[in-house]
Amino acid sequence: MASNKKQFAVIGLGRFGGSICKELYKMGHQVLAIDNRDHKVNEFATFATHAVIANSTDEKALKALGIRNFEYVIVAIGDNIQTSILTTLLLKEMEIPNVWVKAQNAYHHKVLEKIGADRIIHPEHDMGIRIAQHLHSEKIVDYIELSDEYSIVELLATKKIHHKSLVEINIRAKYGCTVLAIKRGEEINVSPLPNEVIYENDMLVVIGHKNDLKRFEDEGM
Ligand code: ADP
Repeated sequence: MASNKKQFAVIGLGRFGGSICKELYKMGHQVLAIDNRDHKVNEFATFATHAVIANSTDEKALKALGIRNFEYVIVAIGDNIQTSILTTLLLKEMEIPNVWVKAQNAYHHKVLEKIGADRIIHPEHDMGIRIAQHLHSEKIVDYIELSDEYSIVELLATKKIHHKSLVEINIRAKYGCTVLAIKRGEEINVSPLPNEVIYENDMLVVIGHKNDLKRFEDEGM
């Protein structure tokens, strides 16, 4: 049953690392929470499987915590770039398969990439883009950038496509985009069939080239 339950360690319990820790723990995962400040560790005692005080640049301390057995380690050290880099380096040397790191700026990103961080996150930048997309159009509910060219967007179906099937809208041929899912209230229909009918205010999860998605949003609905 526990096959989708993974083991995570979160290093740095500021706003970013703290939210990740709490959310994963709430989902029922094993979470080891690490910070070098005791008040942070105390604060997370009830929001993690274990919360411990440790300095993440201390290799011996990390090993003593058995961090090598973790599948995922999130490095959420805020403004101390040097500490973040050194921590990431130690974790990759220990061959942890998934080390996800919060980056502060382009320089930090570049170094993290070079030392093998598996995923580099820019929370403010990414959130800023999502919020701007949302502000830009009321049809856009959420936005995930997959690359410089491709994205996934959640669009609210308008009157224009109310009571039309995917075939009638012809989104793939006309706009080169694919509807991955349709959310209606609590229900979600993944890989909808071509004859699936859309209603106003359905949420469409659509993948495609950014230009095509924009065309569909502006002209198609
Ligand atoms: P945010 O912007 O996400 O709030 P912060 O910079 O406030 O980030 O939080 C980073 C956290 O990382 C702090 O709680 C800090 O105590 C912790 N931290 C910093 N250096 C280390 C370290 N060497 N080992 C463990 N935790 C650290």
